[in-house]
Amino acid sequence: MKTFLIHASLLGAFALTAHGADAPIGYTDTPMIPGQKWRVHDKDRPSPSVVTPGTTFSHSAPAPSDAIVLFDGKDLSMWRNGNKPANWKVENGYMEVAPGSGSIQTRDDFGDFQLHLEFATPHVVEGNSQGRGNSGVIIYGKYEVQVLDSFNNPTYADGQAGAMYGHLPPLANASKVPGAWQSYDIIFEAPRWEDGKIAKKACVTVIHNGVLLHHKQEYPGPTRHRGVGNYNDPHPSKGPIQLQDHSNPMRFRNIWIRSLGQYDQ
Ligand code: MG
Repeated sequence: MKTFLIHASLLGAFALTAHGADAPIGYTDTPMIPGQKWRVHDKDRPSPSVVTPGTTFSHSAPAPSDAIVLFDGKDLSMWRNGNKPANWKVENGYMEVAPGSGSIQTRDDFGDFQLHLEFATPHVVEGNSQGRGNSGVIIYGKYEVQVLDSFNNPTYADGQAGAMYGHLPPLANASKVPGAWQSYDIIFEAPRWEDGKIAKKACVTVIHNGVLLHHKQEYPGPTRHRGVGNYNDPHPSKGPIQLQDHSNPMRFRNIWIRSLGQYDQ
């Protein structure tokens, strides 16, 4: 751990030298996170330990029989870009962010669910910190599970790959090398309100390349950049799955989802 931190800081210094200080690696002027001793995107918050994931995973396994296939490598018919068709590039069995085109969302809404997806950060490393291999799985367009190239890429701990962005770092850094296919399995339970007051917060379990990052952790509210969300504005307990355009040519493939109806009551 200590060795990694020293190593990472050296790499960070190199990155800043090589690419310019274009992306900060943390903040000191952000609000405190409720219930924690850290600020949002705290530059001093320790990064999780690096765990080398297994070299293979069952990415080619077909979706379970009751899953909805959101992307089978052929087209974006299950996706939209706001009111327009999704226009990210599709080739060789994957979709690729068209930087600047905007985030895309599923056409369908989902409540509680189990989601599987695979992603690859750009093989050629460009940028640093949050500017390197950034995307996100933004549930309902509100609750982000960060997607980032976190292979030897220092950034604030609550913003690295698999973080509940701006709230909780992952339990481990299980990132693969740039360009390698990686997997997320995300189990999400939607928030519920009763009489306009939050009765059950949104919570998430995340597994990255077979390594547990979060287990039933609650979001304090919708994700914010440099801020803390809250549940003051009730929204439906279902919504689309959004993939973020953060100006990096990220790739996704083999995306499927299962509704967990037993939690819908
Ligand atoms: Mg992101």
